[in-house]
Amino acid sequence: MKYFDSPYKQLSRKINTWCNYTQRLDTYGCGCQHDCKYCYAKGLLAFRGHWNSNEPAIANIKTIRKAINQLTVSDVIRIGGMTDCFQPIEKTHKLTLATIKLLNNHKINYLIVTKSDMVASDEYLNVYDKKLAHFQVTITSTSVNDYENAPPPQKRIDAIERLYNCGFDVSVRLSPFIPQNIDLTILNKIKCNKILIEFLKINHWIRKQFDIDYSEYSLRFGGHDNLQLERKIEYLKGVQSFSQKSVGEYVYEHHKYFSNNYNYNKNDCCNLTLNLSPEPQLKLAL
Ligand code: SF4
Repeated sequence: MKYFDSPYKQLSRKINTWCNYTQRLDTYGCGCQHDCKYCYAKGLLAFRGHWNSNEPAIANIKTIRKAINQLTVSDVIRIGGMTDCFQPIEKTHKLTLATIKLLNNHKINYLIVTKSDMVASDEYLNVYDKKLAHFQVTITSTSVNDYENAPPPQKRIDAIERLYNCGFDVSVRLSPFIPQNIDLTILNKIKCNKILIEFLKINHWIRKQFDIDYSEYSLRFGGHDNLQLERKIEYLKGVQSFSQKSVGEYVYEHHKYFSNNYNYNKNDCCNLTLNLSPEPQLKLAL
């Protein structure tokens, strides 16, 4: 089994949106068993030979503990920056579970982003701290697909609804939003108040791996091909049933447009419900 160090880190805007939450921590690395064909992290690491989807490396818990010790109670850390923290390997190694317990002990807010329904299983529901835990559960299609090895969309939808029913801060993460793959009737029936939408951006790697119609992706920004703003606005008209809608953007002008004209929270496209400590300087000891 391979191990790797996983300190929290700032990621480049090249793979990020204009997101507030750039402190990220991976419990598994150098590969993700979900092996999505459009995966940006895989695109970055595979050509250097640092990606193994079958056997991801496991984070060093000592490094995680050290990283968490550097955080303050006003920080929010995203678990799962380059890989999914609830990929199947978690069933055996429980590094994500151990990390959540550490974050709870230190009263640090955490944002879990995942494509797995494991996130809403009893074992984890019993551990999350409602004041600290925030969730984004990703779907990219409303029917079973062959471009992700993650649990099927309906299981993820069930997980979203379970977290929501339990009173957690949870969003449907429609990312990437590929309009052809989404049945809006199914999407609009999901029982959750929040949705975060991110559109697909295409680079050379994704174009080679992921075979869909790219004819509408005519806007070049930051080395990626994107939909034009007008097309994005048109596609968003079908997303209706959520009381708190948000678009996370990569194209800066589009980010400004959606922040000012669409997003529930102009200052936070992730739209987390946070109650952060007014004592940002407080350092926590282990
Ligand atoms: S779940 Fe995320 S990190 Fe894992 S392969 Fe898919 S896109 Fe990449």
